[in-house]
Amino acid sequence: MLVDIGRLKELARIWSDDTALYLGATSSLARIAVDAAIRSNFQALAEAAAAVGNPQVRRAATIGGNVALGSATADLVPALLVLDAQVICHEKLAQNKKAPGRL
Ligand SMILES: Cc1cc2nc3c(=O)[nH]c(=O)nc-3n(C[C@H](O)[C@H](O)[C@H](O)COP(=O)(O)OP(=O)(O)OC[C@H]3O[C@@H](n4cnc5c(N)ncnc54)[C@H](O)[C@@H]3O)c2cc1C
Repeated sequence: MLVDIGRLKELARIWSDDTALYLGATSSLARIAVDAAIRSNFQALAEAAAAVGNPQVRRAATIGGNVALGSATADLVPALLVLDAQVICHEKLAQNKKAPGRL
């Protein structure tokens, strides 16, 4: 079965509170590369997103896909590790927090 999550707007949100910046799984790499809050506070992540492929790839590619792909060459994963990011995984009814390199 193929499930297209691309039109779930809630998953494309980028927001922050006093403690953290949150990136929805379908946030595109193109958006992450230019987001003002990310560029000023998490420059390594913005630069990693900007370095991926070409503009066409960055518009289509998502942070969730880059992490979930499990590729040793996924550019966002090292930046997320350096920034001590956590990935919130929803598995059936459970919600778990994991380091990006431990999915
Ligand atoms: C020409 C070209 C150049 C590229 N260059 C680079 C590069 O320089 N650096 C780089 O890192 N990558 C590169 N890539 C690889 C790719 O574009 C990226 O890794 C991209 O971030 C994948 O994201 P996506 O949303 O397209 O994921 P998809 O390809 O749609 O999905 C990848 C995998 O993750 C799963 N998945 C996707 N989203 C989720 C989710 N929210 N939850 C759970 N599982 C999910 C999918 O089921 C699939 O198994 C390149 C690809 C191409 C075609």
